Amino acid sequence: MDPTPDNKIAVVVIGGGIGGAHIARDLAEFLDPEKHTLTLISARETFVYLPASLRALVNPDFPLSSVFMPYDNLFGNFPGQLIHGTVTLIEENKRAPVLINTSSSRSEIDDIMYSGNVVYRAYGKQEKEEKLERVRYDVLVVATGSKWEGFTGFPNTMEECVRHIEMWRMKFKEASDIVIAGGGAVGLETAGEIKDIYPSKTVSIVHSDRLPLNDIYPDRFRSVTEHRLRVRGVNFIFNDAIQGTPTISSTSPKVETRSGICLPCDLLVPARGGRPSTLALTFLTPSPSPPRLRQSDIVDWPEIRQLEKIKWGHKGVVVANVVRVLRMIGQGRGGEGRGGGGSEKLGVGGSVEGGGGGGGKRCTLKKYKGVGEVILITNGKSSGSTYCGIFGGLGKGWPLVLSEIVLPSLFPPL
Ligand SMILES: Cc1cc2nc3c(=O)[nH]c(=O)nc-3n(C[C@H](O)[C@H](O)[C@H](O)COP(=O)(O)OP(=O)(O)OC[C@H]3O[C@@H](n4cnc5c(N)ncnc54)[C@H](O)[C@@H]3O)c2cc1C
Repeated sequence: MDPTPDNKIAVVVIGGGIGGAHIARDLAEFLDPEKHTLTLISARETFVYLPASLRALVNPDFPLSSVFMPYDNLFGNFPGQLIHGTVTLIEENKRAPVLINTSSSRSEIDDIMYSGNVVYRAYGKQEKEEKLERVRYDVLVVATGSKWEGFTGFPNTMEECVRHIEMWRMKFKEASDIVIAGGGAVGLETAGEIKDIYPSKTVSIVHSDRLPLNDIYPDRFRSVTEHRLRVRGVNFIFNDAIQGTPTISSTSPKVETRSGICLPCDLLVPARGGRPSTLALTFLTPSPSPPRLRQSDIVDWPEIRQLEKIKWGHKGVVVANVVRVLRMIGQGRGGEGRGGGGSEKLGVGGSVEGGGGGGGKRCTLKKYKGVGEVILITNGKSSGSTYCGIFGGLGKGWPLVLSEIVLPSLFPPL
C-alpha cells in the first residue's frame, strides 16, 4: 500500500446520515491531525434529520431548518474534509489480502478494512458536470443507510429537497382521500401529521399485519397506538397490502388492495420501509452475499432500524474499532507489523492482523450486542405512544410503558 504523501493514515466514512455523521464527528475527537486524515463522503448536500421530515412534508408552516442542516462544524477543530458525492466503487488493495479468523458471526460490526480507493461522482459547486474522483483510505467505514421510496426519498441537493417538500405539501393539501401503504412507524406518524393539519380529510392505512407496527412490539402497545389514531378518524385495513405503485386515475380516484377492497384515493403515500443502500458494497471482495459491511441501517442485526440504536449502540462500537485498527496500523508503520508486500483486512471473526512479514500485530474488535427496543410513535404534534423494552431487548424486556406525550420539538439530531 502506498502511504499518503505526508504518510498520514487516511480514514474515510461513506454516508452522511445520522450514522456516518455521528461517527465522523466522534472520530474527529480521537484522531490526531499530525497522524490522520478524516473524510466524510455524503451524497446529500446537507444532513437530513428524518424524524422531523414527516411534519415538514405535511405541515406548510414547519421550518425546513428543523430537517435540513449544514454539516458545519461537524469535525470540530479537526481539519476534516467533507465531500459532496456519490460513491460508485470501492477499490480494494488486492495485494494478498489476509483474512483472519473467518468464522462468521452476526454479532459484530466486522468489516472495517483498510487500503484502497473510494471512487465517487463529485457534485461540483460551480460546474454542472459531474466527475469521477478518488480518495484513498486506510480505514473505511460504510454507513450508507437505507433508500426510501416516495415522499421520504429525499434528493441530494438542497434545491431539489425544497422542491420535493413543496410538491408533497401541495399534494397533501389538494387531496381528499389519502391512502397510506404501510402501517409502520412512518405510516402511523404521517397519519397523525395529516390529521393535525387537515382533520376532515379521509386517511386510511393499509397494513400487511394484523395490527400496526410488527411483532417485535407487544400487542397491547400496537392496539393502543391503533386506537389513538382511530379516535382521530384514521381508518385501518389490516392483513392486506397495496401492491406496487398503482396509477391513480383523476376521473375515478381509487386504489384496490391485494384482497380486492376498493378505497377512494386521490393520494397514495407509500410508507413500506426502506431498503438497505448497499450498492457500494457489491464491489468488495469476496463478493458480499449477503452484504458484508454493516453499519447503522445496514448493520446485519435483528432489530428495528432506528437512529437511537445508532447513537446508543452502533457508533460507539464502530468508533472504538476504528481507533483499535488505527493503533494497530500505527504500530505497523512503526515497523512492527507491516511490510512483506501484504495488505491487511479485518477478519469477520473479530480480530485484525498485520498482513506482512512483521510481528503479526492483532487487535480484537469490540462487538455489537444490540440495544433494547424503545420507540416513540407521534400522533401529530401533541400526543403519541411510547414503548420501552430496554432491559430485555426485542420486545421481551421491560413491561410496556404507555403514555400520552407532548413533543414540542423532536430530538436534536447531532
Ligand atoms: C421518515 C422517517 C422518520 C424516522 N423517524 C425516526 C424516529 O423518530 N426515531 C428513530 O429512531 N428513527 C427514525 N427513523 C429511522 C432513522 O432515521 C434511521 O434508522 C437512520 O436515519 C439510519 O441512519 P443511517 O446513517 O444508517 O442511514 P441514513 O439516514 O439512510 O443515511 C445514509 C446516508 O448515506 C448516503 N449514501 C447512501 N449511499 C451513498 C453512496 N453510494 N455514496 C455517498 N453517500 C451515500 C445517503 O444519501 C444518506 O445521507 C426514521 C426514518 C424515516 C425515513
